[in-house]
Amino acid sequence: MNVLLHACCAPCSVKCVETLRREGLVPSILWFNPNIHPYTEYISRRDSLLKYCSEEELPLIYEGEYGLRTFLDGVSKTDTSRCEFCYCTRMAGAASVAKSRGFDAFTTTLLISPYQNHELLMRIGHEQGEKYGVEFLYRDFRPFFREGQAAARARGLYMQKYCGCIFSEEERYLGKKKKKEASAK
Ligand code: SF4
Repeated sequence: MNVLLHACCAPCSVKCVETLRREGLVPSILWFNPNIHPYTEYISRRDSLLKYCSEEELPLIYEGEYGLRTFLDGVSKTDTSRCEFCYCTRMAGAASVAKSRGFDAFTTTLLISPYQNHELLMRIGHEQGEKYGVEFLYRDFRPFFREGQAAARARGLYMQKYCGCIFSEEERYLGKKKKKEASAK
């Protein structure tokens, strides 16, 4: 079974690929992440994934370019939450590519992260699969998260410090600064 694995980054891909291969499935990687900002961060994550795919001899499909403006425009207009908009955008992109390229199913490395809204992601994956007429292969990869991160670090893959969008970058660093200031009082 040929599976299109939407990948948010190399570290999260490591254990997802291993798990799918162990099941006898054949994963190909999709890079489609208009939610990663700023540009230097986008390039760091993308290039790390390219390196990983080359080392693992994984076919890679590359969709879209840096999407700061489109993403911010979409977030400003959505009546859902920012993350719901983000999941919808990426799962719709993955489902569309899976369908047009003849994959049996698609899934995402976002399912490995304990920091994502797993239930929301699962629902959106299924909805977009139904919409595009291709199976969303649901797996709970979360038990492999820590092991995957350690393996990625050992391989020298780029490890990001925040989820992806410019808002999550602010939450990561400004949140930390605020906590420090509060504890100093
Ligand atoms: S926090 Fe993460 S999932 Fe939510 S919108 Fe930003 S990049 Fe997307």
